[in-house]
Amino acid sequence: MTHARTVDELRSAFERGVTKPLAWRLAQVRALRRMLTERAAEFEDALLSDLAKNPTESQIAELGFVVGEIDHTLAHLRRWLRPKRVRVPGALLPARASTVLEPVGVVLVIAPWNYPVQLLLAPLVGALAAGNAVVLKPSELAPATSAAMARLIPQYLDARAVAVVEGGVEDTTDLLAQRWDHIFYTGNGRVGRIVAAAAVENLTPVTLELGGKSPVYVDDTVDIAAAAQRIAWGKFMNAGQTCVAPDYVLAERSIVPRLTEALREAVRDLYGDDPAQSPDYGRIVNDRQFERLAGMLGSGTAAVGGDHDAASRYLAPTVLTDVGPESPAMAEEIFGPILPILPVDGLDDAIRIIRAGDKPLALYVFTTSATTRRRILTETSSGAVGFNVPAAHLAVAGLPFGGVGESGAGAYHGERSLRTFSHEKAVLSKPLSPDTLRLIYPPYTEAKDRF
Ligand code: NAD
Repeated sequence: MTHARTVDELRSAFERGVTKPLAWRLAQVRALRRMLTERAAEFEDALLSDLAKNPTESQIAELGFVVGEIDHTLAHLRRWLRPKRVRVPGALLPARASTVLEPVGVVLVIAPWNYPVQLLLAPLVGALAAGNAVVLKPSELAPATSAAMARLIPQYLDARAVAVVEGGVEDTTDLLAQRWDHIFYTGNGRVGRIVAAAAVENLTPVTLELGGKSPVYVDDTVDIAAAAQRIAWGKFMNAGQTCVAPDYVLAERSIVPRLTEALREAVRDLYGDDPAQSPDYGRIVNDRQFERLAGMLGSGTAAVGGDHDAASRYLAPTVLTDVGPESPAMAEEIFGPILPILPVDGLDDAIRIIRAGDKPLALYVFTTSATTRRRILTETSSGAVGFNVPAAHLAVAGLPFGGVGESGAGAYHGERSLRTFSHEKAVLSKPLSPDTLRLIYPPYTEAKDRF
C-alpha cells in the first residue's frame, strides 16, 4: 500500500496555486470550525469510545481548544501575513528590506492517541493558514476518532488539498518515505527519531512534539490544599494520559504528609469517593498501556488510590510515596494516573534532580517566592514553565508550545504555528540608480577599506 499518489495529487494542487490565496485559507479554516461545531456530537462519541473521555472535557481540551485556536488565527491572520520591514544598513541605502511568509508546500501531520482531535487539528489550523496542502495521519490507537476524521474532513475541507490517511506503522512508514516540505510529529521520542531519520533523506524540516517526565516542585511557602487541587486536576485529567501532565512531585520534606493528604482530598473533590463510578474520569487507552502502568504501582506505597481493574482498564487516581529514584515509575514517562511524591531538601536539591533528567516538556513550580521563580527560570531548561498552574500554558495562544532536547524541537500555536508552516523569505530591493555600490566595486583602493 503506497500513498505516493495522494501526495502527488496534493502537490499538484499546491503547484497550481490552489492553497495560496488568503480567501482559500480563511474559507478552509472557517469550514474546519463549522465541522467542529456541527459535528461535535460525533467527535464526542468517538472520544468517549476511544478514551472514555467525558464530553465536557472533550469540549474543553479537544474541540473547543481547536475552535479557540481557529478564532485566534482568524482574528490575526491578515496582520501576521503582512510583510515585516527590516532596517537596511546605511551603507546599502537607498534600499528596502522586508520578510514575507510563503507556504512551504505539502505538509505531513502525524498525531498520537491521547488528544486525538486537538493534536491532529491544531497543527492543521496553522498549516492551512500558512497556505499549504496537508496529509493528516491520525493515531490508529484512537480508532473511533481516526474513523471520524476520515469520514468528516472530506465533507468540510477541500479534498484537492487536504487528505486523511488512516493506518498504523506500515502506512506511516510509507508516508515517511514520500517527499514532504514539512513533517509535524507528535508522540514519543523513539518514533520521533524514526521521523527525523526519514526527514533527513530530503532535508525536510521537522517539528517534534515529544513527551518525557514533567516535574512539579512544591515548596513550603504555598497554600498546600490549593496547590494539591491544581496538581490533581492537571495529573488526573484524561486519566493522566496528557503530555504536559505533572509526572512526579518533588515536595519539601516537611510538607510531604500534608500534601499527600491534600491530594487525597483533591481527588475526592474531583471524582468522588469512588472514581470508578465517576463519569468524569477516563480509562487507559489499551491493554498494553494498562499493563505497563499496573507494573509501576509496585514502585512505592499507594497513599491514595492504587486499585485497578484490567477488564475495564480502570486505574484509580493514585499517589505513590516511598518511591525510590531507581524504580520503574521514575525510569520513564508515566503517562497515566500515577503520581509519585519524592521528598527534597530545598530548592538546590530540587534543581539538582530536575537537571539530572532530560529537559522536560513542562516544569511546574508551586511557590510564593520571587527568588525561587527567578532561579527556576535561569537554572533549569524546559519547554515551558508553569508557576502555580500545570498544563494551562498550552491554552494561551500567544505562547509557543513545544519542547527542548528530548521533549522536542520546534513549536506551534497561534502565530508560531503560521511561522512553523511557512518559509520566511528575505527580500531586498534596491534601485539601480544611483548606484551607491560603486563605492565597493573593484578596482579596490585604500578608501574602499573604510566602507
Ligand atoms: P502513538 O502510539 O499514537 O504514536 C503516534 C503516531 O506515531 C501514530 O500516528 C502512529 O501511527 C505513529 N507511529 C507509531 N509507531 C511508528 C513507527 N514505528 N514508525 C512510524 N510511525 C509510527 O502515540 P504515542 O507515541 O504513544 O503518544 C504518547 C507520547 O506522545 C508520550 O510520550 C507523550 O508525552 C507524547 N505526547 C506529546 C505531546 C506534545 O504535544 N508534545 C502531546 C501528546 C503526546
